[in-house]
Amino acid sequence: MMNRVSANEIPAPAPRSTEPSQLATELVERLKYRIGKDPKVAKPHDWLTAAILVVRDRITDKWMDSTRRTYATGAKRVYYLSLEFLIGRLMRDAMTNIGLMDEMREALASLGVDIDIIAELEPDAALGNGGLGRLAACFIESMATTDVPAYGYGIRYVHGLFRQQIADGWQVELPETWLAHGNPWEFERRESSYEIGFGGAVETLDLGDGKQRFVWKPAERVIATAYDTPAVGWRAKRVNTLRLWAANPIDPILLDAFNAGDHIGALRDSNKAESLTRVLYPADATPAGQELRLRQEFFFSSASLQDILRRHLQQYPDFSSLPDAVAIQLNDTHPAVSVAELVRLLTDMHGLDFDTAWDLTRRTFGYTNHTLLPEALESWPVPLFERLLPRHMQIVYAINAKILIEARKERGADDQSVRNISLIEEGGERRVRMGNLAFVGSHSVNGVSALHTELMKETVFADLHRLYPDRINNKTNGITPRRWLMQCNPGLFNLIRESIGDAFEDDAEQLKALDRFAGDSAFRERFAAIKRENKVRLANLVQARIGVRLDPGAMFDIQIKRIHEYKRQLLNIVEAVALYDQIRSRPELDWVPRVKLFAGKAAPSYHNAKLIIKLANDVARVINNDPAVRGLLKVVFVPNYNVSLAEVMVPAADLSEQISTAGMEASGTGNMKFALNGALTIGTLDGANVEMRDHVGAENIVIFGMTADEVARVRAEGHNPRAIIEGSPELSQALSAISSGVFSPDDRGRFAGLIDGLYNHDWFMVAADFDAYAKAQRDVDALWSDTAAWNSKAVLNTARMGWFSSDRTIRQYATEIWGA
Ligand SMILES: *Cc1c(COP(=O)(O)O)cnc(C)c1O
Repeated sequence: MMNRVSANEIPAPAPRSTEPSQLATELVERLKYRIGKDPKVAKPHDWLTAAILVVRDRITDKWMDSTRRTYATGAKRVYYLSLEFLIGRLMRDAMTNIGLMDEMREALASLGVDIDIIAELEPDAALGNGGLGRLAACFIESMATTDVPAYGYGIRYVHGLFRQQIADGWQVELPETWLAHGNPWEFERRESSYEIGFGGAVETLDLGDGKQRFVWKPAERVIATAYDTPAVGWRAKRVNTLRLWAANPIDPILLDAFNAGDHIGALRDSNKAESLTRVLYPADATPAGQELRLRQEFFFSSASLQDILRRHLQQYPDFSSLPDAVAIQLNDTHPAVSVAELVRLLTDMHGLDFDTAWDLTRRTFGYTNHTLLPEALESWPVPLFERLLPRHMQIVYAINAKILIEARKERGADDQSVRNISLIEEGGERRVRMGNLAFVGSHSVNGVSALHTELMKETVFADLHRLYPDRINNKTNGITPRRWLMQCNPGLFNLIRESIGDAFEDDAEQLKALDRFAGDSAFRERFAAIKRENKVRLANLVQARIGVRLDPGAMFDIQIKRIHEYKRQLLNIVEAVALYDQIRSRPELDWVPRVKLFAGKAAPSYHNAKLIIKLANDVARVINNDPAVRGLLKVVFVPNYNVSLAEVMVPAADLSEQISTAGMEASGTGNMKFALNGALTIGTLDGANVEMRDHVGAENIVIFGMTADEVARVRAEGHNPRAIIEGSPELSQALSAISSGVFSPDDRGRFAGLIDGLYNHDWFMVAADFDAYAKAQRDVDALWSDTAAWNSKAVLNTARMGWFSSDRTIRQYATEIWGA
């Protein structure tokens, strides 16, 4: 092996010029020599690639500085393992953070290229489903910003989340091809590759003295190859690494088969390996329970841990220092098999004894829980787990024995408690509980909002919490203000800077200096004018995409998020139908003009969610075309929700819909994006809404409906939704219109089943919360009519949302969990 060059030998490069003329020279150079295009014939896409390469070079200088600094200082490294990273576009983010936005704009303009046009061509990297993946992306940026030496580890899916088309009102899923033009951000690291095994058997070698060694002989093996994308923090203080794994066959072609003339057969295995990282599982809350998914989870966990241990041994003599040098955070249970894999690597591969390995493992991992929904708690059938990961099955049993003996002997746990704590679900099909495995294998288990953390202690992890009362802690989610204010809302960003200076750029909590401008009518008018410009931009997008004209003077009432029954898009649509009826039946009243905008994807197998999309579109068609509505209400479903669409919709919202059934949304982050951009929230006391109310003030947010405690009580005691519906004339009218086919004349029974669900069980409390919601909406109308009061509340929302910066969240993780 060659000697590693010591950090001091190569001097840091002199900072490159940021002169637009120099940048222009480099743009032409990249175009010619890296892309092979004459500037005279270059296409916009070529210019995009050239622009990314110029910026990437500057980032790479900082990247190497950061890596050297981590080595030199011996700083603790943080590894964030996540099956999803919902990154979106990177160019604007990278240019802003490295401080080259204006210079690059000028450089490109001097070459006749409009940066805004090429920026739109960058593919939206959707390697995730929703909030969990977007949180991981915000965290990667905030870890760099707060100078935490960190690596994000995930999978380089060839196809990210599907592209959503709406055909005749129905969702149609099309494959996403974000890599079609290559990916100029990434570096392929052939040298960082690891073997990952599946299946086979475990041999036991007797070493004497009652000691044994276990040798896993996998039946199949694939290679994990790293692709690195630099992640730049604000002001480029630090550049971290997002390392995504791709699967390749051990031998690209099986030579034996190839030489024997079986060319197709020789390629079959290569296809099989590559199919491992071909697609992202398109569900956010319900694990599909398919073998390929478990394979993906193990594949990226094992590759990441092998990489982490290799890096550790480059700097330290052994693993006794592992928990001091390394913190590994599990983003939900998707990487939870890592707990067993680390024990395996430390014992079978590196010769530690089980107790030592277990102690190091527990001190190294932290686990973040993201959901309490019972159907979303990940577990794998024991036979599948055992067949695919026979050695890990043994380790899970060994951990379980240790934990259960400890629980019984030392903590006096009873039979029921032992059943709940066990890593194996007994009764019926035996299953491995990934949440329990992650819990016992970590020194910290956190929820993502204050309410969610308390509910975790009372529900899913009640018994484990009694056993380990110091382990559960809260880390309320956040969002990066660079993407979700600075870049997506430049108008507001500039107004804030003009008004309070630039301290908020480095500390979002300084936004509170805006508080005093809420009473300043000149300021409010400028604030409102910016909101209006953002609404015009969105109206143009809607007109271009679906041909519906919107009046930017109307209230823009927006609900964008995954389509799920617990998020209650249905409640919003039913209210739109009730409002529609009132506007027609009571034309003498002063109705506030409103546009209800929806966007979101449904999991392809989630029948009711797809039906809700169809309902939104059916209702939209009828309402938007009824002259009796006189333009007072419009309903719009914008197709293909993703990060880039959110960046246009969030700054354009007057009202943000955060109306999940209380107790079911762990945190939400969409709620934070909107409020930061000056929307008022209508919401339930769920997830982070509770803390948002505390921060913005109860008078600046519209809260309605049942609390989590009330929902739990009603569910336990049973309620009578039919009586509730019959007691509410507005609601029964709206529901019978929907179920009788007023909005679906081509198929009158289309929504009967959906509405029957409300009459019969109303699990998500749509009927139970309807009247409170409708009343809250009329309160919103009244507030809208007092423009000064509305705008003052909007300003106060922006002023008081700084605490929800993901920089704050990451600082809490760093000091309270990672010790970094
Ligand atoms: C923020 C975000 C989410 C999460 O939204 P919630 O309202 O918290 O569910 C999902 N998808 C995208 C594209 C986002 O930007």
